[in-house]
Amino acid sequence: MERLIFHIDVNSAFLSWEAAKRVAEGMEDLRLVPSAVGGDPKKRTGVILAKSIPAKRFGIKTGEPVAMALRKCPALVLVKPDFVLYNKCSKSFMDICRKYAPVVEKYSIDECFLDMSGTKMIYPDPIAAAYEIKNEIRDTLGFTVNVGIGNNKVLAKMASDFEKPDKVHTLFKTDIEKKMWPLDIRQLFTVGAATASKLEKAHIRTIGDLALSDLRYVQSLIGVKAGIQLHNYANGTDESPVLSEPEEPKGYSISTTLEEDVKTADNAFNILHALSDSVSARMRADGVRAFCIGVTIRSNDFKNRSHQKKLNEPTDITSEIYAISRELFSELWDKRTPLRLIGISLTDVTKREEEQMSLFVDEHKEKERQVDKAVDEIRNRFGSDMIMRGSSLNSTLNVGKKYKAELENRKGDNI
Ligand SMILES: [Mg+2]
Repeated sequence: MERLIFHIDVNSAFLSWEAAKRVAEGMEDLRLVPSAVGGDPKKRTGVILAKSIPAKRFGIKTGEPVAMALRKCPALVLVKPDFVLYNKCSKSFMDICRKYAPVVEKYSIDECFLDMSGTKMIYPDPIAAAYEIKNEIRDTLGFTVNVGIGNNKVLAKMASDFEKPDKVHTLFKTDIEKKMWPLDIRQLFTVGAATASKLEKAHIRTIGDLALSDLRYVQSLIGVKAGIQLHNYANGTDESPVLSEPEEPKGYSISTTLEEDVKTADNAFNILHALSDSVSARMRADGVRAFCIGVTIRSNDFKNRSHQKKLNEPTDITSEIYAISRELFSELWDKRTPLRLIGISLTDVTKREEEQMSLFVDEHKEKERQVDKAVDEIRNRFGSDMIMRGSSLNSTLNVGKKYKAELENRKGDNI
């Protein structure tokens, strides 16, 4: 049976999600003005994570320092990254996808694959079905997606990358020569800059050039494994199945696949902080602590690497989890390879009440616990938006100070 796969990709996800939220609140549409997500707007530090099309016209680039972006466009509207919002939007659009497809694979925070094979009875016209999904997401959630339709994952993924935004494209096996082979080799799924330049030196410049090259020759240029994979992709061959959510490992984990590759340590640290914050709050709510902290990174060629650390005492403290994950990250990353995914896992968990009382009370840890507790309480009462941690804060000390200041302000407001 011929397979039928959809790939759904949110257009400029981080910026669109913030814009959709603001439009729903009656504010201006960030997509229509020079705007960007990143850093700390108040301190004017950090890097640009995503930008609007009008911002792009000022030459603002993803990954550049906020200060530089502001020099290019002083009127730039800057907003802090909000991973709580992103996860919510991610879940909402994938829930819509699940209404249409029996099997949905979350591929990243803003991308998923739908296996529509065998749905001909329900959806006689796949293109009409794709429009229906796309329009339902746009009309109910307020942001746009591209839908790519193909006979396997790589074709669907390539198709969704054609013209944006708010579009449906097909790339069936019969279209490969016409629609895919003329494209630049750099546009082929998983081809990074290093691989591309090796191929280009050997005069393989288009996807068609690669498809028609001798496999052994390609392997001699870029390696046996990468060679066969890219040669297959260029020929539109990909047997990999669409998989629903992988089983959660025992313990707690959180990861975010990034809309744009992470290229700086600062940027990665901000993300690690947001992840530490979110995962540790979940653990505290469940009354557990973990003995083992792990960090996973995935480079843009889809290679995963991870690193773990065993602790003498289990923890659920945000600042401690952040500090250790930062350490692990720095050991893992070569400071060069662009990253697609960053994740933290906490395993070897224990129930809080089962822990033995420590002989010595660690005053520093106790203070951190009080900060976490206060933050958790406020969030439970007023919602998670009330306190945004992470991105703007650099040191543990600041974390404590900042929250105390915010808590005092709240008291003054008589809430
Ligand atoms: Mg996207």
